Amino acid sequence: MEKKAKIKIAITIASLAAISILFTRQQRRRRKLNQCSQYSCYLQSEPKPQHNFKRVLADNSYSPFKHANKEKSSGSHPYELEITALLENPRPEFDFSNVDLDLQRSDSFVWVETKSQLNELANALSKEFFFAVDTEQHSLRSFLGFTALIQISTEKEDYLVDTIALHDEISILQPFFADPGVCKVFHGSDNDVMWLQRDFHIYVVNLFDTAKACEVLSKPQKSLAYLLETYCGVATNKFLQREDWRQRPLPAEMLQYAQTDAHYLLYIAKCLVAELKQQGNENSYCPDDKFNFVLEASRRSNTVCLQVYTKEIESYPGEAAASSIFFRLLNGQGGVSSISSVTQDLVRRLCAWRDLMARVHDESLRFVLSDQAIIALANKAPANPTDVYTTIAQADSDVDCLNLSSSLPSPSPVVCSHLDDVERQVCNNVENLDDILLANLQKCLGPNGSCPLSVFNYVLPAKSNWELKNQSNKFVYKQNGVKVSRQVAKKASRDLFVQKFSCKSPVYHNCRIYANDGRLLCYCDRKKLEWYLTRDLAKLVEDNPPAIMLLFEPKGRPEDEGNEFYIQSKKNICVSCGEGNHYLRYRIIPSCYRIHFPEQLKSHRSHDIVLLCVDCHEVAHAAAEKYKKQISAEFGIPLFIHKVADSRKAEARPGFSASITNFEAGVSPLQLRTAAMALLHHGPTMPSNRREELRRIVMRYYGGREISQEDLERALLVGMSPRERRRHAKKRGLSLKMSKPTDFPDRQQDSYPAVMVESATMDATKADNVLGLHAIETQKSGEKEGRSSLTESHESKPPTCSNGGIDQLVFSTIWKKMNSTSKVSDSKDDSVGNVDDECENSSVQNGFGSSSPTPNSKVSLLGHGPHGKQVVDYLLREYGEDGIRQFCQRWRQVFVEALHPHFLPAGWDVMHRIINFPVASLNVSSPA
Ligand code: AMP
Ligand code: ZN
Ligand code: MN
Repeated sequence: MEKKAKIKIAITIASLAAISILFTRQQRRRRKLNQCSQYSCYLQSEPKPQHNFKRVLADNSYSPFKHANKEKSSGSHPYELEITALLENPRPEFDFSNVDLDLQRSDSFVWVETKSQLNELANALSKEFFFAVDTEQHSLRSFLGFTALIQISTEKEDYLVDTIALHDEISILQPFFADPGVCKVFHGSDNDVMWLQRDFHIYVVNLFDTAKACEVLSKPQKSLAYLLETYCGVATNKFLQREDWRQRPLPAEMLQYAQTDAHYLLYIAKCLVAELKQQGNENSYCPDDKFNFVLEASRRSNTVCLQVYTKEIESYPGEAAASSIFFRLLNGQGGVSSISSVTQDLVRRLCAWRDLMARVHDESLRFVLSDQAIIALANKAPANPTDVYTTIAQADSDVDCLNLSSSLPSPSPVVCSHLDDVERQVCNNVENLDDILLANLQKCLGPNGSCPLSVFNYVLPAKSNWELKNQSNKFVYKQNGVKVSRQVAKKASRDLFVQKFSCKSPVYHNCRIYANDGRLLCYCDRKKLEWYLTRDLAKLVEDNPPAIMLLFEPKGRPEDEGNEFYIQSKKNICVSCGEGNHYLRYRIIPSCYRIHFPEQLKSHRSHDIVLLCVDCHEVAHAAAEKYKKQISAEFGIPLFIHKVADSRKAEARPGFSASITNFEAGVSPLQLRTAAMALLHHGPTMPSNRREELRRIVMRYYGGREISQEDLERALLVGMSPRERRRHAKKRGLSLKMSKPTDFPDRQQDSYPAVMVESATMDATKADNVLGLHAIETQKSGEKEGRSSLTESHESKPPTCSNGGIDQLVFSTIWKKMNSTSKVSDSKDDSVGNVDDECENSSVQNGFGSSSPTPNSKVSLLGHGPHGKQVVDYLLREYGEDGIRQFCQRWRQVFVEALHPHFLPAGWDVMHRIINFPVASLNVSSPA
């Protein structure tokens, strides 16, 4: 009995203990989970040594590695010529026989961690004809790995170079490594040669690799440990190789290990060369052959030098890892098709996510998420963050039991900081993977992103090649022939578009204007400089790029005192992605609104005109069109004019009075135009019922009366601004000029009195397309005529300020002065604003504050012009100019959200010229 009771108690205690252990474990997990769910990246509080690097040659972006440029280098290896010369004609003189080497390793070495110490090392190396090299790497907490230490040994000294502290300075050692007259001794140099290229653009020319010599000599082993043992009687602990070489100070044991790795190499090389010569002598009949073994070792060594470092480029992020996981899941049996497609998809998603996260955080893949965790997640598809967390922890601890060495935190801090994203990958397999990855990238590195930007990841959002690639090439692995050909077609049309519409010459000339006291007023284009110079208002003070100094005291200074934006040279690149080969001007505030702004608010437009590449332009334009619809709904102001009717009374002709009553009056301008166009071009050949349908549309405009050929021609012009008409006339050539002038009512008469604005229900897609093209056409022709916003000039008008804020101050003075003396070309059509036109001019008329929906006769009814005017009128009436400023801010916000631009000029700001306006007041309520 007593025994039984004792056992019972023991069991109870044991189970209580077990429960409490389980409980505390769970508690700990839960606590960790809570930490996890905080929306902040672990890197915010965990600095990594590589974060102090100012510059890296191999960043974590998906773009290829750029090698050093060297004159006369033909291939990708900058020293190809020098190395091939060595291969063809090795230097037999390299000979270590008279090297005086101290086999005894002294305990002293030179620790190199400052710039001056590095200079001393460089100075020492400049006296050497050979030196030995080894490097230590760190790869766990870095995506591509980095060199943590370089060991250099000469006959006299061992140097340990702290390549973390000196990361940005090491390049001063380049010449010694590239000098064919200096022999570098490595052991097993394949990796070191690449690492030195990757981190420092150090290229090794003239190498003697002791491992290659072992090969030539057919040694039983070729490890360094073996050589050290055999030639030097030194034992090493190669486990230290895997230690964390980022530690500072390095423990004595590691320092000694590192020193040893390079110290004996010269001596070993000397022994091996002697053996190679010996072999040559023994194995040859002809004494001239006696260097062959040495030469062979040299050739094999220098072949290594020819290798070039490349980043692994996959056609989709994580693709290679996914394939290897499939292979492992199968244990080498069966085809991939035997894994369920759901599992396959999850593995791919997780591998892609892991790849992206490793790049963002500069961590190795295995640190972010283990392969076994990916397999577990793909099999289980956990439904909530807690489940994700435990699945990963379980998978890793299962493997840990088998392999006690692994001590990585599981789940990793990366997973913990972004747990919800892992869950999204696993749960949401409907969403396009590209979209999720991009969203993740934005969440991490976008404005207000959760993770710190670094030299490793800042290029990532701008140059996500897979994203560009996948815009036309979604899911490479699902690709089929049809898709490919479509891609090709799409690419061709895009190329054509780029060729046709992008700016041919730099938009920003970066000319400068100085005030007469020498202060920089602004940057501008050449035209503007010329304008001042030809009028003797300024003198040229510098050329290339030219700068002028004004000869008069400007009435005011830039009101942007302290705003960098106007006083900086601007780059001719896409402000979003940095593309420099093609770009278009993009107006952040759509012209349909801007053109109606009061003059004083229009003067600073250069802030809101940016350069975008064709791809980013498309994205921004689409976002703007979408937002216009939102504005339209919010303000209750339709985007399009719904109906127009002929201004002239429908001429009551005998016999037609009856039919007129059956026609409702008015038709949308776009519909009218399309119908008239079709009838003019294809009328006789189209099916009669279609022709009748179109005729009735045109008749509706004319109030139901019968229509003639001339009516059709006139209908083509309905709703066009004068500018559009001129262009139209130009296109149609003389045929139009010869027709009766009365068919082209002048502006005054033709002011669309019968416009009825109804609702915003008109099908906008068609119109959008038409307008999209039209907008570009206008822009292009504007450029040709030298009237585009950034190079604007008018014969006798001062060019409106393109970049600077001084215009309104400086120009108004001169302008008035000039006007008083010379006659200004009056407001001919040229100077009249147009919906899609950038030409913003003071002669754009009137009517602000008027609530009448009467459209501006100079504004096209085919576009969003009337909508723009009504919105602006409303804002001015209700909120005054502040309303306009806030409206501009909303558009900048739309732009930033659409693109997350990375190359906006300094000083560019969503809040530009908005002072004291709380963001909360942004949402202007719609008119009652
Ligand atoms: P070593 O050439 O032996 O000095 O090795 C140079 C670097 O290569 C080390 O600092 C390690 O980062 C890496 N390395 C070499 N072998 C291994 C290994 N078996 N496991 C992990 N890392 C290694
Ligand atoms: Zn993060
Ligand atoms: Mn080593």
